[in-house]
Amino acid sequence: MPKVDKEKCIGCGICISMCTDCFKLDEEGKAEGTCEGDACKCECNLDDVMSACPVDAISK
Ligand code: SF4
Repeated sequence: MPKVDKEKCIGCGICISMCTDCFKLDEEGKAEGTCEGDACKCECNLDDVMSACPVDAISK
C-alpha cells in the first residue's frame, strides 16, 4: 500500500485523479493509501504517481 506523509501532503488530489483505487482523501483533506500491497490489482503505475506528487509525499 502506498504511504502518504500527511505532514507534506497539500491535498491537491493529483494522486487520487491518477488512481482512485489506491488513494482517497481523509477527513482532513489529506491523501491516504487504500489499496492492499501485493493484493493491489489496479492499473496505476505507482512510480508515476510518486513522481507526479508536487511535494514528494508518497512512498512505497
Ligand atoms: S499528489 Fe501528493 S500532495 Fe497531492 S494529494 Fe496526493 S499525496 Fe497529497
